[in-house]
Amino acid sequence: MLIKLIENQYPMMANCWLIYDEKSNEAAIVDTCAFDDKINTKKEIEALGCRVKYVLLTHGHFDHILGTYGIQQKYGAAVVCHKGDAAMLADAQLNLARINGAEDVFNPVKPDITVDDGDSIYLGDTEIKVIHTPGHTKGSVCYVIEDEKTVFSGDTLFCRTVGRTDFPGGSTEELKESLKKLLALEGNYRVLPGHNRETDLESERTRNIFIRRM
Ligand SMILES: [Zn+2]
Ligand SMILES: [Zn+2]
Repeated sequence: MLIKLIENQYPMMANCWLIYDEKSNEAAIVDTCAFDDKINTKKEIEALGCRVKYVLLTHGHFDHILGTYGIQQKYGAAVVCHKGDAAMLADAQLNLARINGAEDVFNPVKPDITVDDGDSIYLGDTEIKVIHTPGHTKGSVCYVIEDEKTVFSGDTLFCRTVGRTDFPGGSTEELKESLKKLLALEGNYRVLPGHNRETDLESERTRNIFIRRM
């Protein structure tokens, strides 16, 4: 299995992760950044010649979803999100595109699959588990690949910090409970967040000030 960050240099854009199962030739994109000829997502997908089966959204904020429409249209990928954020995918006010001046590049999307805590998505034989982690938004989720000891943490957990809770739908109390769920994963995991650099669960347990204060 190949897991890599697609290097997109748009300002304010979120990390866009590619998951590729070589055996089945199936791939998933975790959060989409944007999608056009200027960014690398298309290049990476076409270089691999993979079938993009899913867009796995960690939550509905505009910076994570702007490319979703394009990937859904071009590759027939099924868009996956938690039901709590489903309405955000089609509403520039709810997903903050309007207030950030990104409404002109936003295309509304309907999720093909809504997931909840404990659900699983498969790429080939590889299981991707869904953990519902509200706090940053109502419908924030993390995706866990046990086989790869990897968590896609969206805007819930970052390197040495945690997600903001001051946007509509945010809750510090819910975020704390969600972080506890992530910390309860046994052993160490690679943590691939929605912004900035990757980290791992063990170093966040000991060195993340917000978590240490919980
Ligand atoms: Zn974000
Ligand atoms: Zn966000």
